[in-house]
Amino acid sequence: MMAGSVLSPLVDWAQGEKITNWAGNLTYSTSNLHKAASIDEARGWIRNQPHFKVLGTRHCFNDIADSKDQFLSLSGLSKIISLDKANHTVTVESGIRYGELAVFLNDNGYALHNLASLPHISVAGGVATATHGSGVHNGNLSSAVMGMEFITAAGETVMLSRHSHGDQFLGAVVHLGGIGVVSKVTLAVQPSYQVRQYVYENLPMAQLERHFDEVMSAGYSVSLFTDWRNRNINEVWIKSKAGEDGHFGTRPDFFGAHAATKNLHPIRELSAENCTPQMGVPGPWHERLPHFRMGFTPSSGKELQSEYFVPREHSYAAIMAVEKLHELISPHLFITEVRCIAADDLWMSPCHHQHSTTIHFTWKPEWEAVRKLLPQIEQALAPFHAKPHWGKLFTMPHAKLAQLYPRMHEFQQLLRHYDPGGKFRNAFLQRNIFGA
Ligand SMILES: Cc1cc2nc3c(=O)[nH]c(=O)nc-3n(C[C@H](O)[C@H](O)[C@H](O)COP(=O)(O)OP(=O)(O)OC[C@H]3O[C@@H](n4cnc5c(N)ncnc54)[C@H](O)[C@@H]3O)c2cc1C
Repeated sequence: MMAGSVLSPLVDWAQGEKITNWAGNLTYSTSNLHKAASIDEARGWIRNQPHFKVLGTRHCFNDIADSKDQFLSLSGLSKIISLDKANHTVTVESGIRYGELAVFLNDNGYALHNLASLPHISVAGGVATATHGSGVHNGNLSSAVMGMEFITAAGETVMLSRHSHGDQFLGAVVHLGGIGVVSKVTLAVQPSYQVRQYVYENLPMAQLERHFDEVMSAGYSVSLFTDWRNRNINEVWIKSKAGEDGHFGTRPDFFGAHAATKNLHPIRELSAENCTPQMGVPGPWHERLPHFRMGFTPSSGKELQSEYFVPREHSYAAIMAVEKLHELISPHLFITEVRCIAADDLWMSPCHHQHSTTIHFTWKPEWEAVRKLLPQIEQALAPFHAKPHWGKLFTMPHAKLAQLYPRMHEFQQLLRHYDPGGKFRNAFLQRNIFGA
């Protein structure tokens, strides 16, 4: 039953029943849901609706996907359209989830450059919010987009590609659900690769002052997990590409941390059953890059999430600024994760022209307490120009976001161009992008 509800996000809802996001912290403002049978059928529907939002796999924690009026689901439109071996791209219908796409690619000898901590999310939803994994040289998942087809408010089909549409493409990829109904996405692929995952326990946080870059570059993708107790990084997860694995298998010590002796969950108290295999056991990229296995509940389940991006050069200072708040944070926290993401050129990506470090919080479902903490964390990180994850909980006002995103005004114009009447505009976009 657990696997069923994780895998089939929208089949659980009977017509008229309330729909919630994955975490259950948000009941959407309508339960009117139209499931597209085909993109041609959806086109007519789109033309006739005054206001609606597309629902992906509902993994965002805030109201970015919410609508007062109607939802459109493309979860049935999840075919792989073509694998272009000459140009190293795959084109998919947008309702497909990364976990499904990854299996197809790997079976055909191909891979994506990275994945988020979970494979359960839709490609369209992940791309729309600049979802990311880790790796000092890895851009976020949106940075792999080479082309995107979407249907505008008027029901017209628009195709933008990285090669042909320059700036407009760079503005459209991380669109926060505001540009139209994304029907197809073309992603860059590369030959399949194997990854080994090693976990080290108890890295003294002080080691990061001198060695942050070395620690985060130790593997293809590195994550640090801390509960902010005792200035300690509870777990370091190193995902190494086969052939580049730094002899971790024979290395008991890593900057003062010691090699784990069994598979671990990022929240140490939880069973590692839901997690991808560790202990250096090699496996295909898509079974190691996410922390959580498809078909199992990712993370903790009942939780809230927030995340902030800071420029890489401020990593240690930003971590220390949050550490000062540890007495306030730890009681409400399951775990924090620190990751690195390479810079990209997408207007609304938090990594726009900025190599970034993210400080993520998986909170207990205690919104009243978290709501009071977020402004304090945002204030502590303000000197480092921290930007929030678009799909997670934050309290930063539009005026601040506008300072952090130099292309904000052009993005507003781009949304108005494809959606002059505000068909796709919900309270999230009004508040955060249009400042209304
Ligand atoms: C357990 C858990 C772990 C997570 N781990 C990570 C992580 O490792 N890294 C990370 O960056 N984030 C992570 N997230 C956050 C999350 O995955 C992203 O924010 C992502 O956007 C969710 O995708 P979705 O399909 O569920 O989107 P939804 O929440 O359904 O929608 C997000 C936005 O995309 C729009 N949208 C969706 N499909 C379309 C479409 N076809 N056309 C137009 N607009 C569309 C929606 O309207 C909405 O505005 C995690 C979330 C959870 C619950």
